[in-house]
Amino acid sequence: MANEELHASCDPDLPARQCLTWHVHAAIPESKISRDGRSCRCRCPNHEDTTPSLVISLGDLAPITWHCHVCGKDARLAIRAELHLLYGVPLACLPVSRKEKAELDELVLAVFGAELTPCTKLLCIRALHEGLRGPLPHAPALIDLGARAGVSRAQAFRAASELAGRTLNHLFIPNKKDHVKPVKVTPARRAPTPVSNGDSVANGDLDRTRSVSNGDSGRITKPRRLDAA
Ligand SMILES: [Zn+2]
Ligand SMILES: [Zn+2]
Repeated sequence: MANEELHASCDPDLPARQCLTWHVHAAIPESKISRDGRSCRCRCPNHEDTTPSLVISLGDLAPITWHCHVCGKDARLAIRAELHLLYGVPLACLPVSRKEKAELDELVLAVFGAELTPCTKLLCIRALHEGLRGPLPHAPALIDLGARAGVSRAQAFRAASELAGRTLNHLFIPNKKDHVKPVKVTPARRAPTPVSNGDSVANGDLDRTRSVSNGDSGRITKPRRLDAA
């Protein structure tokens, strides 16, 4: 497929070559566009870069693609976020692949399913969109990330302690600190429980329920789900 036929994701009518020149190259200080206008080289904003390691170019499968030979392919989303945050390159001009998008969707859904406070979820979602996949950064980067997510300094620190070392791409694994929490079971022989008017829970039933409370019945307390995978 000729690159000329690929149009930029930022504007379906705009040829990708124009997007690269006008929206990407023009926004990045000291970037150099190749003579044929098909690629642009600049210092990578994702690491201390003394020589230009980042190449943003017209792609075969995507209108525009980018690669830093120091950061490698796993840093694509992080580089994308930095280009946007630092230089204001519109995210639409740096389209993610279908695979990257699907992975992000999955991770964001895992955040919603995780037992975290709302502010921590906000911060995690922001972090995921910025390409972070490991643990949350330490301060001061943590506080900056919190600010971009719209949470306070204290909430950012709380997010870090809630995650307690878990990585952003493994949030579905319950926090170790939490999951040793004993399952709440009513003490064995307490004073005669006033089971009023023939409630369906007879004594026998109670004992049975207690013994399987860790299994799948989940009648007394809902056991925390441990995804064994
Ligand atoms: Zn564009
Ligand atoms: Zn880099």
